[in-house]
Order: sequence, then structure tokens, then C-alpha cells
Amino acid sequence: MSDYYEILGVSRDASTEEIKKAYRKLARQLHPDVNDGHDAEERFKEVGRAYEVLSTPEKRDLYDRGVDPNSSGGGFGPGFGFSDIFETFFGAAGGASRGPSPRQRRGQDALVRVEIDLAEAVFGGQRELQLDTAVVCPTCEGSCCQPGTHPRECEVCHGRGQIQRIARSFLGQVMTQQVCAACHGYGTVIPSPCLECSGEGRVRTRRSLKIKIPAGVDTGTRIQHTGQSEVGPAGGPAGDLYVEVVERAHETFVRRGDDIHCTVEVPMTAAALGTTLTLDTLDGAQEVDVRPGTQSGEVSTLRGLGVTHLRGAGRGDLVVHLAVMTPTRLDEDQERLLRELAALRGEERPAGKMAAAQQGVFSKLRERLAGR
Ligand SMILES: [Zn+2]
Ligand SMILES: [Zn+2]
Repeated sequence: MSDYYEILGVSRDASTEEIKKAYRKLARQLHPDVNDGHDAEERFKEVGRAYEVLSTPEKRDLYDRGVDPNSSGGGFGPGFGFSDIFETFFGAAGGASRGPSPRQRRGQDALVRVEIDLAEAVFGGQRELQLDTAVVCPTCEGSCCQPGTHPRECEVCHGRGQIQRIARSFLGQVMTQQVCAACHGYGTVIPSPCLECSGEGRVRTRRSLKIKIPAGVDTGTRIQHTGQSEVGPAGGPAGDLYVEVVERAHETFVRRGDDIHCTVEVPMTAAALGTTLTLDTLDGAQEVDVRPGTQSGEVSTLRGLGVTHLRGAGRGDLVVHLAVMTPTRLDEDQERLLRELAALRGEERPAGKMAAAQQGVFSKLRERLAGR
């Protein structure tokens, strides 16, 4: 390591002013314009390096602790080595990445919502979507240049996309990188931009896309269609299209998970005697068993008539909630029969069983109610 104090001819505890004075004196003597001695130029540079270190308090401090700030960079010359250390520790100033950035970038993802009805959720379906999107420019095919022309290397940054600047900071000289304003960091400029896409490499358009709605989807389900969104700048790869499902409410059926629920009204007499109802389901007409003695709120489950499981095989159930309806208006005959029934029910009966006489009254009552 060179002895910078000896080179400048000052003591180790020399003040900044003494160092400056010594440097000026030597620089005047050794300047190549006035001194053509064979080692004058070399000594002039040496004096410059010594002054560079000893006149900067931080560097002088480093030097006094045995580190030569000038010899750590290698190849950059005085001053640059130190900034290299700075960059190693703190990253390049300004956070800019090195090298030109590619003009081609990936397109944005897109999200579209699709309304479906319950039948489509159960069995799946198809849709034709109209998408406002971007496609590769048919004229320049994504090159952004008018046909027959090409991008040119940027003259300002010479293709690097970055401009290096040397700034002074409390640590001495620091090299910073800035995005080249002339080429916006691409390293190339386009002398004749394509007229159809204004040099963007892509054009806006509306296109249609057929998509499948898989069986089992629910509100909030997102179906990813890779590469079906817009093409990126300069014809970059297309983004992904996400189709989000929104299920419309059904007037009869309510979905809970993969089960479907509905409520069916059962006349009081039918609930007491038991019957078979016909229910219009998504799978067509189905018979629903109402066992004798059914109470309001009981359910009859039709296995496998619910929504198809999105993952895995099989389907949920159709759960029929039975609501027993008590008649609100009775004619004379009906009222008489009901009173007869009430009198009969006053007798001791084993729980859950109905006497033949009660059954007879119920059957008559059902005929009357049905006949209204
Ligand atoms: Zn174009
Ligand atoms: Zn440039």
C-alpha cells in the first residue's frame, strides 16, 4: 500500500488545510503541462490518488485503519473502487437493474363473470364469450416496426438501456444508474413505428371464445383459461383469462353445498295417511314418498339428484322438506267429519297407530278437500 502521507510530504496528523496546500504545491510542480520529466506524469497521478483519499474524511479514516480505498475496485481507476464497495453493500443507487429491459412483456390477466342457472351447475354447460382484448398486430406481427424497417440501437445509451452517472455523496463518489430517457430503457429505438398499432405490437379487438362450464361449479368458482387473455406489448405472451361463476337463484330449489333443497306442501290428510307425490326435479318428474304420520318439517331424501361433485364422482342429494298444510276453511261436512275424528282420537290408542274408523274418516275428508 502506498504511503499517501509520504507522497504528499505531510505528517500523519496533518490538517485538511495542510493536505490541500501540499497537494496544490505538488500538482503545480508535476502537472504534465509544465513538467516533462520522465516520471512526472506518473507522480502527478500518484499525488492525485493520495489527495483523493486524504482529503475525504471517510476515506482517510479507512486508510488510517489500513484499507486503501483506491485499490479495492480494480480497473475503474481512482474513486470508482470505493463506489463499487458501496454498491456491493447497498445495491445500485436508484434500484435500477442492469442491462436493457425487453420490449416484449406478458399481457394482463383478465376476469369475466358468467351467470349460470342451477341446471348448468348440476350438469355443466357451454358459453360463448365476447371478449374485448388485444391480439398480435397483423401488420407488424408484434415487431412494432413498419414492415421492412427494424429497431435501431439507442445512440444515447448505446444499447444498454441505462445511463451511468457519478454522484458525490457523504461516502465519496457513487455511481448511479438511471433508465435511459431516449429509449425508455429498451436499448433500442423504433425509427418508423407500425401505423396500424402505433408501435405497440398489438391491436385492440373483440373476439369470441367458447368455454365449457364444468358440472359442479358454484358462485365464486374461477375457471382458468391459460393464455386466453390479451397479448402483451410487442406481441408478448398472452395473459390468462379467469371465468368467475355467479349462480342465479332458482325459484323452487335452494342449493346448499352439493345438496338441493325444496319444500313441498302436503295436505293434512295425505300426511296422516301417507301418499306418493310427483315432483318436477332437474332430472324430470320424480316420485316422493310421504310415509303415513308425516309431521311438518320432516324430509324425504332423493339420493343422487343433487349437484355433481366438482371434484370426485357422484352427486349430492335432493332433500324434500314436507310442510303439512292444515285446512283453513271447512264446509259443514268437512267440519262434521273432523269432529268425528277428534271424538275417535279421544279413545285410548297405541301411539303411532290409527284405528280403522279414523282411517275411514280421513279418507272421506281427503275426498271432500280434493273435491273443492
Ligand atoms: Zn403493428
Ligand atoms: Zn437509450
